[in-house]
Amino acid sequence: MILDKFSLKDKVAVVTGANTGLGQGISVALAQAGAKVCGAARRSCEDTAKKIEDFGGEFKEIIADLSDRKSVDILLSEALEAYGRVDILVNNAGMILREDSVNVSDEYWYKVIELNQNTVFFLCREFGKHFISQGGGKIINIASMLSFQGGIRVASYCASKSAVAGLTKALANEWAKYNINVNAIAPGYMATNNTSQLRSDEDRSEAIIERIPAGRWGTPEDIAGAAVFLSSEASSYINGFTLAVDGGWLAR
Ligand code: NAD
Repeated sequence: MILDKFSLKDKVAVVTGANTGLGQGISVALAQAGAKVCGAARRSCEDTAKKIEDFGGEFKEIIADLSDRKSVDILLSEALEAYGRVDILVNNAGMILREDSVNVSDEYWYKVIELNQNTVFFLCREFGKHFISQGGGKIINIASMLSFQGGIRVASYCASKSAVAGLTKALANEWAKYNINVNAIAPGYMATNNTSQLRSDEDRSEAIIERIPAGRWGTPEDIAGAAVFLSSEASSYINGFTLAVDGGWLAR
């Protein structure tokens, strides 16, 4: 039956940046759909663990700074140690730096590219090898409206999120034959730490809401359905697609 294809029962997911915001929303959603979730973050995922354990779900925290290449290597091994298998990788951790391009230092540029782009590729590569050897898997990269548009004062973020959309297609082409679905979700303007600076600027916040056909900021719950769908068997013939969850922003 069709709803069974959305179930993640007996699946194991690794979600990066699981302590807050969209990563927390995705972790809770995957756990509600039946997955055991390993959440990686620099800080404690206590809050996420509680939300999941409250309904009897399973969650394991992995503390890792993903801008450190060595941390990238431990994610797969710790998840395998905890649950014996991994089926789903959600590359959610990311950062944004807002600055006029003429003032962006080399250090700032590399910091954003390292986490949002390089780490995403290295995790895809390591989990991809594992998924090939196990006969399949799901990878969901978190892209952005700035995978499609230029934005304002966010050149490094735009470059990295455009790379995420390209990488998603490139890896999907290579790995679809191994029963690996590589897709992305492009959230619109969501109320998380990532947008706190924008939301605290009343004029900018109002202008953004006015441009969103749905007339409001998105929430972590808004991307839950897309995350479960792309993690599940229901999306097994979807490859290399970046799905916008944006209240209509791109349609405008
Ligand atoms: P957020 O700032 O609340 O969350 C960012 C997450 O990344 C946090 O869990 C943080 O701990 C983690 N992280 C940052 N640096 C890390 C590091 N070095 N190592 C490990 N983890 C690290 O913002 P969010 O909105 O929840 O962002 C989640 C993802 O969604 C990001 O990739 C972001 O670019 C993307 N996104 C957000 C929006 C939005 O409007 N909020 C829109 C489009 C895309």
